[in-house]
Amino acid sequence: MSDTKYVMAIDQGTTSTRAIIFDQHANIIATGQKEHEQIFPKAGWVEHDAAEIWVNVREVVGQALGRASLQNGDIAAVGITNQRETAVVWDKRTGEPVYNAIVWQDTRTQKICDELGALGGGAERYKDRVGLPLATYFSGPKIRWILDNVEGAREKAEAGHLAFGNTDAWVLWNMTGGPDGGVHVTDVTNASRTMLMNLDSLSWNEEIAGEMGIPMSMLPEIRSSSEVYGQGREKGLLAGMPIAGILGDQQAATFGQACFEVGHAKNTYGTGNFMLINTGTSPVPSKNGLLTTVCYKIGDKDAVYALEGSIAVTGSLVQWLRDNLGIISSAPEIETLAASVEDNGGAYFVPAFSGLFAPYWRSDARGALVGLTRYVNKGHIARAALEATAFQTREVLDAMNADSGVDLTELKVDGGMIANEALMQFQADILGVDVVRPKIAETTALGAAYAAGIAVGYWSGEQDVIDNWAEDKRWTPQMDTDERDRQYRLWKKAVTKTFDWVD
Ligand code: ADP
Repeated sequence: MSDTKYVMAIDQGTTSTRAIIFDQHANIIATGQKEHEQIFPKAGWVEHDAAEIWVNVREVVGQALGRASLQNGDIAAVGITNQRETAVVWDKRTGEPVYNAIVWQDTRTQKICDELGALGGGAERYKDRVGLPLATYFSGPKIRWILDNVEGAREKAEAGHLAFGNTDAWVLWNMTGGPDGGVHVTDVTNASRTMLMNLDSLSWNEEIAGEMGIPMSMLPEIRSSSEVYGQGREKGLLAGMPIAGILGDQQAATFGQACFEVGHAKNTYGTGNFMLINTGTSPVPSKNGLLTTVCYKIGDKDAVYALEGSIAVTGSLVQWLRDNLGIISSAPEIETLAASVEDNGGAYFVPAFSGLFAPYWRSDARGALVGLTRYVNKGHIARAALEATAFQTREVLDAMNADSGVDLTELKVDGGMIANEALMQFQADILGVDVVRPKIAETTALGAAYAAGIAVGYWSGEQDVIDNWAEDKRWTPQMDTDERDRQYRLWKKAVTKTFDWVD
């Protein structure tokens, strides 16, 4: 394929949608970006307008092409990466969503999860088949909620008119024609977050779907992460272009960080934090509160699996300080505020806003700010908020070490929060291992671009990804062990204060 062509990734994230155009050396040629509204109708509910997201996809694709003065013919392939678990249900006849997208952070499905668990097995009911505990995080119970609560939805679903997808499938279906021949497909990584896919066979589990009351006709076809699914619709900005890669955002980052060997791991610091470790071609069950998930599947090759530690609230705590408390006016401002004090002043902030995810999976937890005295000021609170990210990451790393039996010696990082260098140093201090940032920080979009580019022969395979990866900066632990242990012990104590807050 000609060197003058490029690959585009569409990154449909939790806070914004981006389009990024890469060249063969993984250099960024142009980007487009647009935020979408975060809708909070009630405590614990988080929604997005899926129609707005599709409008934004078109806008950012146009921005990126325009800024690079490129046309669709200059694009060799398009990859999609997305916020996972977020559930969209739409009418295939009209292309209209029947309800807002229910976002991964949303906890409204607690009752549904409890009822399913009460059928036997509790939170572990489906774990041996799908690798996940019953939790509000995943898509299956969100689909059930929509069918139970949106007037007429169940009847339409049973008549075969409704489709479900995470935002990858929603965007792909629209890109390839919508009601006019849109392709209803998802990839194995997204499917592995629904609670509805067998990890071994990579096919839908009809029994679980039946128990959750989800008609099979709603579910997209499960395909690999790297193959041509369809072409951009006629008259669209990407008319005729092959859409050839899909990876859930965290799996895309793992791929973009070249974590191809068993034991390779990355941690992404975004709205939440997600650490994934490659475990090879068979799924490894977790004994320590991690998820078993599909990492990627390239065309006909065997699927590669991962263990994942998901943390619901990290960067979104910074947003909360900005939007709900108003003690900063932009996310980067937290750096100045945190630097106004020497330490956390004894304050510990456990942001259990969506319960606690890994390694606890406590949906009854709610946030707590503890250790307060008259001495504590907003600088200490800013600092405690940043430190919460590092402590939560330590808990996940400990779980990974315990599950894999091998201690990680360094951690590759990416995501919006890693711009914060003081946080990265504190992270290395609290983990006691090196923290490494790659030169190309847009690993999520890059991973999706690689999946698409590999499918059409633009890149030859994983070796190109390895060759393009380069280290930018490394933080080495400087804190002494006693101090590290003392702070971590206090953090653990703070976590216990968040339990049992839901009646
Ligand atoms: P996502 O892909 O999940 O939407 P990003 O990777 O774009 O998120 O990261 C954005 C997050 O990073 C936001 O939650 C924001 O609060 C946080 N963030 C951005 N800059 C900083 C900073 N300098 N210090 C701490 N957090 C930051």
